[in-house]
Amino acid sequence: MRAVMAMCFCRLGSLNALGQTGASGFWRRWLGQALPSPDTIGRVACGVDLDGVRALGHHIYERLKRGKALAPPAHGLIAAILDGHELHATYKRHCPGCLERRIQTAGERIQYYHRVVAISLAGGDLRLMLDAEPILRGEDEVAAALRLLDRAIKDYPRAFDLIQGDALYADPRFFNWAIDHGKHAMAVLKDDRRDLIQDANRLFEDQPPSSIKETNVLRECWDLEGFTTWPQVNLPVRVIRSVENRSTRRQLDGQMHTQATNWMWVTTLPKLHASTGAVVRMGHRRWDIENQGFNELVNQYHADHVYRHEPTAMLVFWLLTQLCLNAFVAFFTRNLKPAAKKKLSMLHVARLLLAQLYLPLARAPT
Ligand SMILES: [Zn+2]
Repeated sequence: MRAVMAMCFCRLGSLNALGQTGASGFWRRWLGQALPSPDTIGRVACGVDLDGVRALGHHIYERLKRGKALAPPAHGLIAAILDGHELHATYKRHCPGCLERRIQTAGERIQYYHRVVAISLAGGDLRLMLDAEPILRGEDEVAAALRLLDRAIKDYPRAFDLIQGDALYADPRFFNWAIDHGKHAMAVLKDDRRDLIQDANRLFEDQPPSSIKETNVLRECWDLEGFTTWPQVNLPVRVIRSVENRSTRRQLDGQMHTQATNWMWVTTLPKLHASTGAVVRMGHRRWDIENQGFNELVNQYHADHVYRHEPTAMLVFWLLTQLCLNAFVAFFTRNLKPAAKKKLSMLHVARLLLAQLYLPLARAPT
């Protein structure tokens, strides 16, 4: 596991690239022994105890919590954000954990893929990827998310105040889970909840919007609670609509350009606990976190790479990559001095780590 973590920290992206560094003196210092072969690492990953990997993630969370690094944002609420991510898709090899879908190309072909649901915490200035759960055959993303939440509420009972997701999570199972566990829920509201949207829009017509101005965005917001048009949810819900005009200067001609977007969210959060502005900020933060979290994991940390096509190994590599991203972001944001943070990018610091691995190789005779 230590070898894989070093691979993730250095963003090497493959076990073969890791194997090529075997002669580096770094490994004896880090592992106390020689680096195992790529094949051995892949084989061992298939049998790794997932609870042990998750306990390691929990340890990082506890350390950050104790160090007061996980303070909530100004509105006082920490959201746990759920989102699905596809690890890879192929027409060729498949394993017992593969999901299947039929793709119409020049005929019908079966495509095999793996997908996980991940849960992240949106704290004040830090986001933390807590855990992940594979979507199994015959179930949808929300079912896997609920299994993940059942574990998260045991492992991190007080870490979050509400659970949040995209339009897929405007689902009664998700909302009722929150209500049953003393948490709040929030999701993007889209066409598939037509009755609720129609009901809300009808009432919003009679209500003047409130304006919220930020640096380059003007938001006109409508916000009402007490909707019972979604009877499968065990409590009345609140609907917020935000029509946003964002001004940006176009690079091409230097002219100011305004772009309008329309957002709707549904939540169990009462106005008493979260103002309109707080809900809108949380709605947009979810989007940022999903994008940043997954983009970084995939583009910088190669989390989509199939190191070993086996269900446990794939989850182990994903969880370890999440863990390394957490540790690295925490180190960068909390340990580096402000002057260093201003001067150095995260990528630069990652390359300094990589240098530790490669420098002994460059010095060694070939
Ligand atoms: Zn598979």
